[in-house]
Amino acid sequence: MSVYPCPTILISKCLGFSSCRYDGRMISSPVTGALQPHVEFVSVCPECEIGLGVPREPIRIVLEGRKRLLQPATGLDLTESMIGFTAAYLDRLAAIDGAVLKSRSPSCGLRSTKVFTSSISRDYLHRKGTGFFAEGLTDRLPYLPVVDEGQLADALIRDHFLTRVFALASFREETGSGKMHDLVDYHTRNKLLLMAYDKEAMTRMGDILANHRKRPFEEIATDYQQYLQEALSRAAGIGPNINVLMHAVGYFSDRLDANERALLNERLREYREDNTLLGELKGLFASWILRFNVGYLLLQTYFCPYPAALSGRLE
Ligand code: SF4
Repeated sequence: MSVYPCPTILISKCLGFSSCRYDGRMISSPVTGALQPHVEFVSVCPECEIGLGVPREPIRIVLEGRKRLLQPATGLDLTESMIGFTAAYLDRLAAIDGAVLKSRSPSCGLRSTKVFTSSISRDYLHRKGTGFFAEGLTDRLPYLPVVDEGQLADALIRDHFLTRVFALASFREETGSGKMHDLVDYHTRNKLLLMAYDKEAMTRMGDILANHRKRPFEEIATDYQQYLQEALSRAAGIGPNINVLMHAVGYFSDRLDANERALLNERLREYREDNTLLGELKGLFASWILRFNVGYLLLQTYFCPYPAALSGRLE
């Protein structure tokens, strides 16, 4: 039903791009392999970029007064080097639509890294630390969709991540034209998606596009983008998804026979009890929308927000 953009995704280089881990290994990630034909990856290994070789002695996050990045075997303090590299790298990084980072790394980990009390302690304080590079990235781009490779294996997290990534990439492409009607088209195609994620924001975004004060396109697009990023930052719940589906079925309910209505009610009941079943429900809707050729719904990104090849099991 849709033509998809090609999102740009920043990725930790050891996730299938280079044997750059401290132990000289590379991590194979089936999900990133599945993503490869549909996105453009920009890979980076922050530890190699600050001059650490491969293989190298392990480094760790240490909380000694302040958070530091230390290499116990050499006594090196890499904190300023990593902070400096991260800032300079992000300064020159072109627009990205999302990031996939390596879990548990003192550089790339996202709330999954061990934090120690000293460079020699065997025990760690907790394992919910964020690596220095990941922290720099998420501080600089707070609304960027960012996951680690472990989270990508979870179907719900992956669905939320991919939905955001493709919606933001599409916005970037549409606004690149600088034309108001492209932005209005974008809003029209994403109405049901936005309704599911944040109905109030969707209404406010429609008001922005109405542009009663005749503001220039750049101002409108910037305001719109802010609402879009915030609206997509929290996953859509079961209730809002059901509201959207009930709204959509209004376009063709009179053409469903008794068996199909019974099937719809059964699928909705199952979804209320198990939110992993939304994809199947959307698939059912997509088949009806195609059959009844409902123009407005055929346009909607909601039913297939990213390429179908990325739905279902990817492991
Ligand atoms: S986790 Fe990050 S820093 Fe460590 S090897 Fe992978 S890309 Fe390099």
